[in-house]
Amino acid sequence: MIATAPVADAVADPPKTDGTVTLHGVTKSFGEFTAVRDLELEVASGEFLSMLGPSGSGKTTVLRMIAGFEDATSGVIRLSGVDVTRTPPHARQVNTVFQDYALFPHLTIAENVGYGLKVRGEGRATRTERVRRALEQVRLDHVAGRLPHQLSGGQRQRIALARALILRPQVLLLDEPLGALDKQLREQMQIELKQIQREVGITFIFVTHDQEEALTLSDRVAVFNNGRIEQIGTARDVYEFPQTEFVARFLGLSNLIGGDLAEELTRDSRTMSIRPERVRLLGADDAHDEGEVSLTGVVREVVYTGPATRFLVSTDAGADIIAERPNAHHPAAGAAFGRGDHVRVAWTPDHAARLP
Ligand code: ATP
Repeated sequence: MIATAPVADAVADPPKTDGTVTLHGVTKSFGEFTAVRDLELEVASGEFLSMLGPSGSGKTTVLRMIAGFEDATSGVIRLSGVDVTRTPPHARQVNTVFQDYALFPHLTIAENVGYGLKVRGEGRATRTERVRRALEQVRLDHVAGRLPHQLSGGQRQRIALARALILRPQVLLLDEPLGALDKQLREQMQIELKQIQREVGITFIFVTHDQEEALTLSDRVAVFNNGRIEQIGTARDVYEFPQTEFVARFLGLSNLIGGDLAEELTRDSRTMSIRPERVRLLGADDAHDEGEVSLTGVVREVVYTGPATRFLVSTDAGADIIAERPNAHHPAAGAAFGRGDHVRVAWTPDHAARLP
């Protein structure tokens, strides 16, 4: 007997909406104060989105509205396509991991991870199996019997993650979850977090004020300022092509050249944002390459950062320019230029973003 295959194009697959998050015209006011203004945001299923911005820019408030801990003053919030604007937190398919992981100190790691399932009334056998798998996902199955104080900060952080993942949310919200860790552990956890997210495949919305962390982890970064998204895009988009001065400055060092000097150099008066690593540093008498623009000046400051050295140059045209050179030469060799040296900074105008 020949089995008939279903006609592929008769019924198109419905679009995958599991784990999508949509905010439409969302505003949040606390009395007179507006913390979030008319926000539009669409997060795709399985996406890793970071909300990046300075303290007080509204990131946590947005996260809390998605979780349901805070009501939107106006606007609509949808999870997996369903309007949840007035749905209480426990009825939303989301889970939150906070900075202070708040594990129960007197329960073992396995009991902590399985706690949510117990509250839901899951039987012992199911719980045991799912705890084992959740601990495996965060690579900590060997600590199941320990108490929280017997773990390191990074391990506790991963347990908090396991505790959230075990409930199989469609969306995981993370509020500065690595904030309490030292730099080295934090960088290690960033890589692990990204791996875990890829493996479990659920949507992560991650709040941070650390630009490097946002760039490292995310499929897209939403840069917040004053309760609004100033720019949203891939790490490369927001870093290389900032659309506003705020974004250019918030995402690392940037040289901003506008007005008459920009006009003089490029016949375009729009402000140029040029990253220090795209500025070449030459001797004052060296010629720049064809297609480059250049300015002469004096080195005012030399800063060694480990992988690179930064030179602050006061140009004769008046603008201060930072140039960065990777330390690719012999480790014992000093910097190519010192304070007081006359130099030339040069860059290709195409390598500068124009701020509209
Ligand atoms: P941080 O990085 O410091 O956590 P954030 O970007 O997450 O900052 P939010 O916590 O969202 O910022 O706060 C945004 C603004 O809303 C702040 O000015 C804050 O003071 C204000 N705000 C937050 N919650 C309340 C509240 N319950 N009542 C009054 N104002 C609030």
